[in-house]
Amino acid sequence: MRTRRGPRRALEAAVVALLAAASLVLGVASQEERAPSGPRGGAAAAPAPDPVAVDPAAFPPGGCLRLPPSGPGPAATVALDAGHGGPDPGSEGTVDGTVHREKELTLAVARAAAERLRARGTTVVLTRSTDALGTPLARGAVQDGALTTDASQRDLLGRVRCANLARADALVSVHFNSFADAEVGGTETLYEPERSFAAQNRALAQSLQTAIRTRLTAAGHAPLDRGIADDSSGAEAGGGHLVLLGPRIPSYIDEPSAMPGALVEPLFLTNPGDLAAVADPAGTDALGEAVATGVTEFLDGAKRR
Ligand SMILES: [Zn+2]
Repeated sequence: MRTRRGPRRALEAAVVALLAAASLVLGVASQEERAPSGPRGGAAAAPAPDPVAVDPAAFPPGGCLRLPPSGPGPAATVALDAGHGGPDPGSEGTVDGTVHREKELTLAVARAAAERLRARGTTVVLTRSTDALGTPLARGAVQDGALTTDASQRDLLGRVRCANLARADALVSVHFNSFADAEVGGTETLYEPERSFAAQNRALAQSLQTAIRTRLTAAGHAPLDRGIADDSSGAEAGGGHLVLLGPRIPSYIDEPSAMPGALVEPLFLTNPGDLAAVADPAGTDALGEAVATGVTEFLDGAKRR
């Protein structure tokens, strides 16, 4: 189904508008800096700096983008991974005839979380910042309109590499759940329970799970609490560890993620009640706020430990 292109266009327009606004602010600031300043000059507030590619040689434009803080706060770097993208739409659900794809909702949530974290002094790294996948696609990666299993694995490893190159203090991957039975719904967060920093994985997952449920409940949709779970139990893992969170497995995960991580599945797109809670910008914004709160509280707690 490729007839409804509205949401994606709107999203791309929003990205362009954001980048344009950032360079506009930066341009004004540069002019101010060049202007002769008197004894009281130079008092203008510092503008939010532009996004910077972490490694332009390794990632396509818009992939693995570092967004500097826009406000004061303790220094930390958080990698936000918007699940799926480009030829991999993820799952989907329909409200009032409009199809909502997982890849569009995950990007909206990641972007909303990014702005809030930046305002709190956090550097954010987005594994992808546009509809396209943030990692390079090899020839033959898309077959019959879908990403091959091999290409999907390479894409996931690229996301891990992005978080590692950015030396992120935490990695949060945003996904949405789906199931054949439309009555199944609720909030779930996955973590890896066996790595050397498993206790931190668990703490991050619990913090995110609590923040998401609290925020959704405040917005009038109290989802079923499916709890935090072993990362091999989710549909995204296919029975093994998630590539994003899992340990080194030779020739499968050669470079594992090097920081505490969790994968959130805030709602089921196949459950009408769940989908309604995220099918408009207020819903993705609320989840972005929840993700930002969850990861901030984890980082604050880690400092106190
Ligand atoms: Zn997913």
